[in-house]
Amino acid sequence: MYPDSKGYYGRYGGKFVPETLIPALQQIEKAYAKIQHDPEFNEELAYFMKNYVGRETPVYFAPALSKMAGKARIFLKREDLNHTGSHKINNTMGQALLAKRMGKERLIAETGAGQHGVATATAAAVLGLKCTVHMGSKDMERQSLNVFRMRILGAEVKEVKKGSQTLKDATNEAFRDYIQSFDYSHMVIGSVVGPHPYPMIVRNFQSIIGKELRAQFLEQEGRLPSHIVACVGGGSNAMGVFYPFLKDPVVLTGVEAGGMEIVDGKHCATLSEGSDGILHGAFSRLLQDENGQILDTHSVSAGLDYPGVGPEHAYLNEAKRVKYVHVNDKEAIEAFQKLSELEGIIPALESAHAVAYALKIGKELNAGDTVVINLSGRGDKDAEEVIRYLGGEKHGN
Ligand SMILES: *Cc1c(COP(=O)(O)O)cnc(C)c1O
Repeated sequence: MYPDSKGYYGRYGGKFVPETLIPALQQIEKAYAKIQHDPEFNEELAYFMKNYVGRETPVYFAPALSKMAGKARIFLKREDLNHTGSHKINNTMGQALLAKRMGKERLIAETGAGQHGVATATAAAVLGLKCTVHMGSKDMERQSLNVFRMRILGAEVKEVKKGSQTLKDATNEAFRDYIQSFDYSHMVIGSVVGPHPYPMIVRNFQSIIGKELRAQFLEQEGRLPSHIVACVGGGSNAMGVFYPFLKDPVVLTGVEAGGMEIVDGKHCATLSEGSDGILHGAFSRLLQDENGQILDTHSVSAGLDYPGVGPEHAYLNEAKRVKYVHVNDKEAIEAFQKLSELEGIIPALESAHAVAYALKIGKELNAGDTVVINLSGRGDKDAEEVIRYLGGEKHGN
């Protein structure tokens, strides 16, 4: 299985970082290899997953949603029920425990919308670690509630005033901090992106989603699902649910954000529309212009608003093992409303992209088909964005 010893998934992945960062990455690789199959570490992780995060998360059959979609039965893997409201905590708890094993006393994180920052600050709080979160000025203004949450959890939020003042620049600052402080700090990357070994480590910690789903579905239905659908920003919730099914005859679909329309700057459908390049330490697909400048991106959901994607997804796309599609803002908002009305579950706008796609393909599916949507998070955080969107639409834009 991938990656190879150098961190490659086919031709994608690797470690494209300044030389000063190589010792830090090697240290993580070594420490991770040691704990990966260590019973004591895995017991400790399992303890926190169960008693702190609230796992395992249910697999819920959604009758009304299924009826609306067509003949197939649709299920939801309820990652929205995790502590802090999404799958992100699966990874931050894992990496925080790894950091402790490495003797580190401080976590560093990059954040855009603030969800990963909050999940890292939470893991730091419960494990007694210090925490610094780098966040762009613009994002701090847009996501003031998450800035408050991180600070009340005891984290230091460092404002990044450079460049576009968003996630891309916050990530660069976090790496800079890490290079200077890695003897006592660990950088917690929030998705299956970045240099090796991060995409592998994050995927492995998130694989708990797919492992649980496999056992739960076999028990409830006596077989595997025929389809699994997940939204893709950097790709961690999708990799987590797909990975344990890669060798099975299950149709896997990753749903990217089509934004306003498929025109440069107005979407973030990286795999559908991007090209080969290097971003944040890995060779993958990304959205860039003909000079290699990273394009602006847009999505109504902040968590999908990223111009890159994890290298393993780039590989699975090329190998045609996973199909990647996109859903636009309008379709995602409609799915957000539908799932809320029909099932009493308000999904994150990111997850609503996956719901929208399941509704789209519903008509073509058969009565025996079973679709699992990975419901990556809950939608309370998106109330203002949806009010803004619907208000704007009423007035004609
Ligand atoms: C951050 C986030 C995502 C996107 O990140 P991935 O790494 O692609 O999973 C999706 N859903 C929710 C709820 C998120 O918070």
